Amino acid sequence: MQSKNIDGTQLSQLIKEEVRSSTAVLRAERDLIPGLAFMIVGDDPASRTYVASKERACEYCGFHSTTLRLPVDTSEEEILGRIDTWNIDPDIHGILVQLPLPKHVNENRVIEAISPRKDVDGFHPINVGKLVIGQECLLPCTPAGIQEMLVRSEVETAGKHVVVIGRSNIVGKPIANILLQKATGANAVVTIAHSAAEDISTYTKQADILIVATGRVNTVTADMVKEGVVVIDVGINRVDDPTREKGYRIVGDVDYDGVYAKASRITPVPGGVGKMTIAMLMKNTYQAALRSTAQR
Ligand code: NDP
Repeated sequence: MQSKNIDGTQLSQLIKEEVRSSTAVLRAERDLIPGLAFMIVGDDPASRTYVASKERACEYCGFHSTTLRLPVDTSEEEILGRIDTWNIDPDIHGILVQLPLPKHVNENRVIEAISPRKDVDGFHPINVGKLVIGQECLLPCTPAGIQEMLVRSEVETAGKHVVVIGRSNIVGKPIANILLQKATGANAVVTIAHSAAEDISTYTKQADILIVATGRVNTVTADMVKEGVVVIDVGINRVDDPTREKGYRIVGDVDYDGVYAKASRITPVPGGVGKMTIAMLMKNTYQAALRSTAQR
């Protein structure tokens, strides 16, 4: 029997291979190498690990990348100045400031300082606004990865009821807006629920496609979904597990074992959505580089 799992590891590898091939063509035909600049402020170990994985993906795809590591007490002015320099650097097509930033730095001001054309995280208000009104823009990577998973797994979204649990600016709101668009790979009827909902099962039970991004283990259990639902679990949570060498394991927001029996398709954690984010960052950077040639 075919697995119900939507395999993020396989799909993300495929996307990176596609980006790598397209980059080779860009290089040969237009003498253009996509360039991605990373900034890390402070020494948060998780941020360092994330950026290291993104750097490896750049290398794999044939991109040029540069990483600026700044001390935790770097002023906001200094950060904004560095972004300005990258904004006008023709060899840099994407700028990624690893979040979170230290408390004395205004994250919104930093995001808004990045040129929307180089905003490969898709967080700039111009890109957010364009997404909402259905104009071409750089999409945030995790939600873009979710749409890509649905499309490539041939899950029909048009006319289906998508229920999103969670309304964050990086997952819930953008994925709802992406799937709402009157466009191929979208055109869904979308409901968003959040912590103020009295009983989220009222909504989850109606979902043809259920997207869960709460950061809470077991937000959704088998009794909360209908037979045949497609489940996209965005959550990444650490739970204690003395049987593991590290003493913990990673689980999603959905009770995978319980929900699996009722679902027609489901993303595992790990090995699901989490794998897609970096692949989509590579795709965004490639697209930003390609579009830069149209602006010359
Ligand atoms: P946030 O904490 O920013 O948002 C969580 C959302 O879930 C909020 O809207 C909150 O409601 C809602 N919520 C929390 N608990 C409940 C509940 N019991 N019932 C209904 N709604 C609830 O999280 P993020 O969106 O940033 O991330 C969500 C999860 O996805 C996390 O586990 C995170 O680690 C993971 N993640 C994974 C990524 C990847 O795969 N690459 C990328 C980004 C996130 P309210 O607004 O009312 O507080």
